Amino acid sequence: MKKYEGFLWEEMTWEQIEAYLENVDTVILPCGAIEQHGPHLPVDIDYYDAKYLSYKVAEACSDPKPLVLPAIPFGVSYHHQDFKGTLSVSNNALSAFVYDLGMSLAKNGIKKIIIINGHGDNAPTLNYAAQMINRDAKIFVCVDTGETSDVDISKLTDTANDIHAGDIETSTTLAIRPEMVQMEKAKDATLTFGSDYLNFDNSRSVNWYVRTSKISESGVMGDPTKATAEKGQKMWDVMIRNLVSFVDEIKTKSLEELYQKRY
Ligand SMILES: [Zn+2]
Repeated sequence: MKKYEGFLWEEMTWEQIEAYLENVDTVILPCGAIEQHGPHLPVDIDYYDAKYLSYKVAEACSDPKPLVLPAIPFGVSYHHQDFKGTLSVSNNALSAFVYDLGMSLAKNGIKKIIIINGHGDNAPTLNYAAQMINRDAKIFVCVDTGETSDVDISKLTDTANDIHAGDIETSTTLAIRPEMVQMEKAKDATLTFGSDYLNFDNSRSVNWYVRTSKISESGVMGDPTKATAEKGQKMWDVMIRNLVSFVDEIKTKSLEELYQKRY
């Protein structure tokens, strides 16, 4: 990854952070997972992508840019544990960790936390932590779960239920790290459940949970054989553009203004 400068929390001194916080009260927290992504992708996809997206978004925001926190690598991935390489923490551990971090950020004077989540199954846990931080610190906290749940992204693939290591994640990786993709091992593993309520990409679907090994032999859910770097680049462009306009808006509004606008 190229070197990003000026907005990484971990690379600043306390005096630099203190000075920066005079003008900026917004941070981005990338949150990922280390879990199997089929035979053709590495286990770091959700972690790397959350970090990459956060850096790209901060870089493209207007000055002064939001601060970006060190990414949380691990997430809730118990459902992938029948595949080696998957490392999971519990929902309780992740939500307690994010809650503590949020309270500590609030003590530093941070008023808005934007969590960029690279792993769909972290969403309920991060939403819960966000709600508790808001309850106790009375600051703005939101969770963006990108990639497969971004409505504009799913329009760019025609594979049904392309939710894991399929067309979307393989395309986005081909666009930025082609050397990490073993395309010769990519096989179609498109799922259909025969019910609008169960199909993951249907607007009527319920939230339901299953161990990946019950529905996919390779760990893939989707069709990675359709992936291209061009498509992946378009997906990144859409995600970055959408998030930059959102973060810029949040960053420049006071809490009072935000609440009046009822985000
Ligand atoms: Zn993933």
